[in-house]
Amino acid sequence: MRKNTRQSWQILWDHSSKVIQVKSLYEKVDEKRLLGDFYLNQIITGHGAFKTYQDRSFGKSPWCFCGKDEGTVEHTIIKCDAWQDIRDTYFFKKNSSSIKELLQYN
Ligand SMILES: [Zn+2]
Repeated sequence: MRKNTRQSWQILWDHSSKVIQVKSLYEKVDEKRLLGDFYLNQIITGHGAFKTYQDRSFGKSPWCFCGKDEGTVEHTIIKCDAWQDIRDTYFFKKNSSSIKELLQYN
């Protein structure tokens, strides 16, 4: 029964046009990958404070306050110059080039 449920979930996952951000990070469904971290879940889903989500959900500007690009997860977490000091000071010392790579370092 568990195997059938997982297979059905995977089929829905593979054919869903939603959860694009999450699908770019995780190709396979996995019930063991439940995360309770509020901020990490925003990064994984692209929801919450990110400007592109604010645009889709509330019609606000999608542009990052730096004015150089849209406020996607990747721009905000990896590329935006305005957040470089935060990345250097805290937890992004690996200079990850993608969100997927960053998540591999926990
Ligand atoms: Zn920016």
